[in-house]
Amino acid sequence: MKQKGLLYTGKAKSVFRTDVKGQLIVEFRDDITAFDGGKKDRLKNKGSYNAEVSAFIFQYLEKNGVKTHFLQMLDPRRMLVRELSMIPLEVIVRNVAAGSIVRNYPFKEGTKLNPPVIVIDYKDDSRHDPMLNDDLIVALGLATPTELEAVKKTALKINALLVKLMAAQGITLVDFKIEFGRGGRTIYLGDEISMDSMRLWDKKTKESLDKDVYRFDRGDVMATYNRVVKRITKTAARKKPVAKPRVAAKLKAAGKKTAKKGTAGKK
Ligand code: 5GP
Repeated sequence: MKQKGLLYTGKAKSVFRTDVKGQLIVEFRDDITAFDGGKKDRLKNKGSYNAEVSAFIFQYLEKNGVKTHFLQMLDPRRMLVRELSMIPLEVIVRNVAAGSIVRNYPFKEGTKLNPPVIVIDYKDDSRHDPMLNDDLIVALGLATPTELEAVKKTALKINALLVKLMAAQGITLVDFKIEFGRGGRTIYLGDEISMDSMRLWDKKTKESLDKDVYRFDRGDVMATYNRVVKRITKTAARKKPVAKPRVAAKLKAAGKKTAKKGTAGKK
């Protein structure tokens, strides 16, 4: 697998061709931007933190029946993906009112939205990503009614899976943005799902654990991202059999060896 020329460069990621047909490389850069690029910085390790969380989430979704563009990680910031023809829609799923819907509509921040609210924006920075409705999406030829139905159904499925994943780590999934693309006749989840595209709150403290820390200067952005990567990806580590602390302590106290690796914790 060889990386070839640059195909596209966005605000935080670059996409390269490869020598394999139908496969691209997404590089997660250390650039961070907010407010349509009005605020910009370069923060060390940001690319690899977002790449790690995205890869983890894509694999979790695949295991649960969601088709994604993810193929494999090549290194901590480069992801090999299936080439898609991207649909210029930003599909946002909201479980709690925050951000633009609080600014634009009479919602009180923190209000639970049950059932979740799907908002679809037109991905066009020059127009400031205006909100669309189903008729506009079809009239603009962005997606067919059948595709739109599939996109919304998949977005709600992804939401249910992510709410569960985050809740296990004491995190509220407030909202997130996803993008889809066509690969042949199939619609795949593309782009990324990371701290840049999700709004995450600590369940206990309500502290922001996402790009809002950068947007609103709420603290050390990379320290927050680093902690969130560990919290989110810890779910997988937890599944490995580990000795129960009390059992391990008792064995140690008795001067015995702790249980053998790989058998500890098994009944
Ligand atoms: P809001 O509409 O409140 O600004 O954003 C809703 C959610 O979608 C937030 O989690 C936000 O991070 C995400 N989001 C909205 N627009 C964009 C975008 O252009 N890029 C990224 N990465 N995320 C976005």
